[in-house]
Amino acid sequence: MSRILIIEDEEAIADLEKDYLELSGFQVDIATDGKIGLELALSDDFELVILDLMLPGVDGFEICRQVREAKNTPIIMVSAKKDDIDKIRGLGLGADDYMTKPFSPSELVARVKAHLTRYERLVSSNIRENTVVEIRGIKIDKTARRVWVNGEEKNFTSREFDLLTFLAENPNHVFTKEELFQKIWDMDSVGDIATVTVHIKKIREKIEFNSTKPQYIETIWGVGYRFKV
Ligand code: CA
Repeated sequence: MSRILIIEDEEAIADLEKDYLELSGFQVDIATDGKIGLELALSDDFELVILDLMLPGVDGFEICRQVREAKNTPIIMVSAKKDDIDKIRGLGLGADDYMTKPFSPSELVARVKAHLTRYERLVSSNIRENTVVEIRGIKIDKTARRVWVNGEEKNFTSREFDLLTFLAENPNHVFTKEELFQKIWDMDSVGDIATVTVHIKKIREKIEFNSTKPQYIETIWGVGYRFKV
C-alpha cells in the first residue's frame, strides 16, 4: 500500500484529502506544521508528498527544495493563490505537479495515482537491465552507450553513437541526410547535412569490414541511408 504524506496546516482540508485518499486505498499521514512535515518527508519513506505552500514553521518552497535535494519522491504542491503556483513553477524547485485550491478531492486522487504510476515505472526502469540493440554482430548498449562489433568494443563520439543507434533502431528505413541531421543534431547546432556524410563515414570505418562495400549502413544514391538487417 502506498504511503502518502500531506503537509497542510488547514486541518479541514488535510482531513478531506486524507479521507479521499484512504478511500482509494492509500495510507495517509498528516503534518500540520512545516518543520514536522519536512522532518517526516526526509526521514520516512513516503511514496508521494502533497505539500501546501504557506505553512507555519518552514514554508513549502523550502520543504520542496530540501526534499528534492535528498530524494525523488513525487511532490504535488498546492496553494490557494494561482500567482504562487506560477512563482513556484518559475523557481524550478522540482515539484512534479501543482494544484490551485480549492480543487476537487477526486482530481487530487487522480493526480496522485498518475504520479505514483509514473514514479513506479521510473524506479523499475532504473533497476532493469540495460537496453541493448543487437543486429548481425553489432551490439549497442544504449544504457551504457557502448558498442561492440563482433565482440570487439569500438569507441564512438556522442553524435556517431546517436546516429548509429537511430539507424539500427529503424532498420530497412531510408532516411535522407536532412532527416538524420534534424534527428541527431540540435536545431541550433552549427553544421549542415555534409556533417551527416562525415559521421556516416566514420561510423563505417568502425563497424564495416570493408567500408567501401558496407554491409550495415547502405547508401541509397540520391536519397540517403538505410541500416540493412
Ligand atoms: Ca496553508
